[in-house]
Amino acid sequence: MASIIGTWRMSYEPVRAAYEMLCSGTSAADAVEYAVSEVERNPVFTSVGLGGLPARDGEVYLDAGWMDGNSLRCGAVMAVRNVSSPVRAARMLCGRKKNWLLCGSGAERFAASAGIPMREMLTEEARAKWLEAKEPAEEGHDTVCVIARDDSGRMVVGTSTSGLFMKEPGRVGDTPIVGSGFYCDAGAGGAAATGLGEEIMRGCLSYAAVSYMRQGKDAQTAAELAVSMFRLQLAGRGEDPEGISLITMDASGNTGAASTLESFPFAVGNAMYEAVLRNGRVTILMRNPEEIPFG
Ligand code: ASP
Repeated sequence: MASIIGTWRMSYEPVRAAYEMLCSGTSAADAVEYAVSEVERNPVFTSVGLGGLPARDGEVYLDAGWMDGNSLRCGAVMAVRNVSSPVRAARMLCGRKKNWLLCGSGAERFAASAGIPMREMLTEEARAKWLEAKEPAEEGHDTVCVIARDDSGRMVVGTSTSGLFMKEPGRVGDTPIVGSGFYCDAGAGGAAATGLGEEIMRGCLSYAAVSYMRQGKDAQTAAELAVSMFRLQLAGRGEDPEGISLITMDASGNTGAASTLESFPFAVGNAMYEAVLRNGRVTILMRNPEEIPFG
């Protein structure tokens, strides 16, 4: 079954269009790159790509990840500046046996030499918010994560973010880290995470969710188990996660999601336009994006 799922309200239009593409024979990889890069180039979304909110030094550092579920190959870039499509760079690194995770200036040089347009990703609006901010902000971070399966059974996951607003320069979250921000094995399923990267990485949440699917759990149960088991692990240490959300897709294209938030909007496109509402913690959308908050 052709199927696609993306995080947050920002992925809705791209996921809808990418679903149509999948139905017309576009590969899972092209559908994922299309959907993620549409968000990256839209300055309205201040947590991804162009218009992303800067670090403490006023610079926009971007992270992106990519995994091909059929080959288990990955690509990722961390803390890149001026790269117009970090997810494109991550995809282009995928397939390499070595040197597929690049950071900083090396990643920027790779992107430029691969022909990805370079541009200033800091917008006037984002700069104004930076000038106003005095300290690291609690709010102002999200990641676009997209998982797709095409009719030939190929599965891909892609992620992209500007990370935390007012982060320490050099800080990297879960988004470009395989197993934490994303994981995909076409024989089991795919998963991707959004929320506070420092928490997500401590639970390797995407890998955990895919492991549950490998053991035979459905996509929704796998997402819920990964989040709730990690919550239990933290509770045993007297901690509660600040905010963690996960999307999942099993090897057949069925989707799931779980979150510690009251509401976690995400977009799904597949033959069922399925709407799963479990635990009251997830808001599903496909046909009525106006019903959910922008974010
Ligand atoms: N996970 C991202 C990070 O920590 C941010 C987010 O998805 O909210 O960089």
